[in-house]
Parts: sequence; structure tokens; C-alpha cells
Amino acid sequence: MAGPVAEPEERELEAALRPKNLDDFVGQERVRKQLGLVLAASKIRGRSADHVLMSGPPGLGKTTLAMIVAAEMNAPLRISSGPAIQHAGDLAAILSSLTEGEVLFLDEIHRMSRPAEEMLYMAMEDFRVDIIVGKGAGATAIPLELPSFTLVGATTRAGLLPGPLRDRFGFTGHLEFYSVAELELVLRRSAGMLDLRLTSAGFSEIAGRSRGTPRIANRLLRRVRDWALVHGIESIDARTASAALDMYEVDARGLDRLDRSVLQALVNKFNGGPVGLSTLAIAVGEEPETVETVAEPFLVREGLLGRTPRGRIALPAAWEHLGLKMPGNAVA
Ligand code: ADP
Repeated sequence: MAGPVAEPEERELEAALRPKNLDDFVGQERVRKQLGLVLAASKIRGRSADHVLMSGPPGLGKTTLAMIVAAEMNAPLRISSGPAIQHAGDLAAILSSLTEGEVLFLDEIHRMSRPAEEMLYMAMEDFRVDIIVGKGAGATAIPLELPSFTLVGATTRAGLLPGPLRDRFGFTGHLEFYSVAELELVLRRSAGMLDLRLTSAGFSEIAGRSRGTPRIANRLLRRVRDWALVHGIESIDARTASAALDMYEVDARGLDRLDRSVLQALVNKFNGGPVGLSTLAIAVGEEPETVETVAEPFLVREGLLGRTPRGRIALPAAWEHLGLKMPGNAVA
């Protein structure tokens, strides 16, 4: 997923920091091994790789892995996304211009329109599409052969993908949040590339506040770098890192402003819940999808928020984190 809109310099840096092959890709041991095997086998067979689906919260490496698939297969990469494909014709235009073996990356694939999705089924399975010409009784389907290609789909919501689409992927990788130790490795690699000096404690401080997410780790590293530059600090230690990150409202547990406002709304406006997702989203002024895919997975993993059949609830750790006492009548 592209993530929040970044400044051009930030985007350039993000691109520069992307690992270029599976060996440089930190963590996600299982996905890396499984994907490595899929790619090695297709290289031996001399065929394009099976279609691959990557699922998981934003910033965990789905786009990076798509780029790695193309690089490892020595194939060109085409990038598009579900929201950009609103008509079957949009997809037909992309598919018909692919070259043999090309890797097609479709980000947010769950947001593609239904007719395009149906066209994709046939393309994935038979490397063929039917282009419909004309309307009503006079409409005819013109079959179009496609070169064999590898589709890499990415989604933050694997559950929303219709079964027939999910079944057409030969391999699905579920990306998990990263451990603090893994994020330290990501940060060490990035600091090396940006020529920055940090103490071990400096690395741990940033890693611990990165919400289990490499994109956030790299972003926080750049903010700490700015702080150190302005304050004339050459070697970044834990105190410098925490002073900088406090200023950017990233708290010691890594919660950002959206995370905290979700918890605060739950606790202050709904007495800890249960409350429905859309009501909660309105209370924080965000789209339900943003709350569900960006904030919730991390809050759930941290044991701060619970999802129940009756709605979202604040768990005892959430009250504690906000420095509040949980009232006796709260549900948790
Ligand atoms: P997604 O597509 O899942 O939103 P990206 O692939 O765009 O995430 O990753 C965001 C950034 O995080 C990339 O610029 C990359 O530098 C970094 N990154 C992601 N995964 C890893 C990893 N496993 N090791 C090192 N850096 C990573």
C-alpha cells in the first residue's frame, strides 16, 4: 500500500531504503522461505512464477516483496492498484500490453470493480481475456491471448477478497508485525545507507516506537535525523531519540495520534464500548476502513483494543495506557 502521501524527498528515501532481494529483506522468515522456494522452482522450470498474494497491514513490505519477485525473476514490473481499475477496459488495457514473464503488481486488489475482477479470473487461469464489443443483443466477445505473467496482489484485507479470486493465487503470504529486534535490523541497515551514527540504545528506542512496522521505523529515523541535525548531535542516543519522538507525538509504546484518538474516543465517549466500527470512526473523524486497517490491527496486537460481536471495546491496558482508571461498569 502506498501509505500516507509523502514529500518527494521522503518518497525518494523510502525507495532508496527498499531491500532489493530476499536476502536483504529483514524478518518474515516463513514468507521469505516459502516465496524463495516458489521463485526457485519456477526458475528451474523456466516458467513465470505462480501468482502471489500478500496480505497484511500497511508498511510491512508487500510492495517491496513484489519488486523483489520481479528482480529475482529478472522480469520487468508493472505497478497498478485496485482503485485505479474501475472498468474491465482499464484492466484489459494493462493486461494486453504486458510482455512475456512480466510481473504485474496490483496494490489494494480488494478495491477493484466487480467486472474487472471477473476478467482477472480468466486472465490468471488461462492467460486469456474476452473483450466484449458492442452492447445488448449485438454484443460479441473477442478472445485475446495474453503472454504468461505473474500477478502479485496486495491487500490489507484478505477477508474481503472473494473466494474465487483468492483461490487463483498459487501462494499467499501473510505478513506479520515485526519484532523490536527485527526493526532494529531494519534501522541499522537504513542508518548505514543514510550515514547516520546511533548508539545501540538509540536504535532500540526508535525500534520500540515503530508500531511493528518497517515503514514507520524508517520514517521515525528520518525525523530523529532532522532533530539531531538541528541540535548539532553527532551520535544519536536513546535520550535524543526519545526527545525527538516525543515532539512528534509518538508515544513510548509507539502509538501515534490516530491510535490514541481511537482509544480516547472508546474510553471517553463510549465508556470503553462496545461500540460499532462506523460509530467509532465518526467519533475520530476517519473512514471506517482507515480505523479498521491502519489503527486496529496494532491496537489488537498490543492488547489495547478488543473486537467482539457487539463492537469494539477498550481493554484494561488501554485505560492504563491513557493514565485512567477503568470504571467498574465498563465492559472488558
Ligand atoms: P506495504 O506495501 O506493505 O505498504 P512497503 O513494501 O511499501 O509496504 O514497505 C514500506 C517501506 O518499509 C519500504 O520503503 C522499505 O524500505 C521498508 N521495508 C518493508 N519491509 C522491510 C523489510 N522486511 N526489511 C527492510 N525494510 C523493509
